[in-house]
Amino acid sequence: MNRQALETYLNELPLYLYAYISPDDLEYAQRIRWICENDCPMYGKSWACPPGVGEVSACESKCKSYENCLLISTITEVSDIANIEETLSTRSDHEEITNEVCRYLQSQGVNPYVLSTEACAVCDRCAILDGQPCRKPERMHPCVESHGINLLPTLENLGIPFQYGENVVTWFSLLFFNE
Ligand code: SF4
Repeated sequence: MNRQALETYLNELPLYLYAYISPDDLEYAQRIRWICENDCPMYGKSWACPPGVGEVSACESKCKSYENCLLISTITEVSDIANIEETLSTRSDHEEITNEVCRYLQSQGVNPYVLSTEACAVCDRCAILDGQPCRKPERMHPCVESHGINLLPTLENLGIPFQYGENVVTWFSLLFFNE
């Protein structure tokens, strides 16, 4: 893949930032999974979330089976970040940009493994609730945290703030790929 062409493409998108990281340098932590299990209402309700995504160790192995990882981030200013409805309404734009980058990589002959935000919202009702396999696995992106990934140390190492400003929503996606 032509990295220069990729970067030209990324620079044309409304991204806050992008960065290459090594999948080996990410922190995969069981305690993130504990938060999913104990603090998230989507636990067990989506194939994009635990336990549907598998054990943290299996998720880590999957991520580390790729040589590269592209981190992308978008930011959106809202009037009140505590307004969950308004905050979550910014997510679809980030997901669309993530899908655009995914499609670009695919057009370059690269098949990325994509982790993105929150639970999958492709279907009105996730098939997991009916004991059925995912209907659209090619469109489904597990969320970053579902894989036990704690992005904070990675962002600190890169000098990237996790939160850009008081009323700014920041979203991150990870695209793992081999060239
Ligand atoms: S694509 Fe549909 S079935 Fe698959 S994880 Fe998303 S909501 Fe669930």
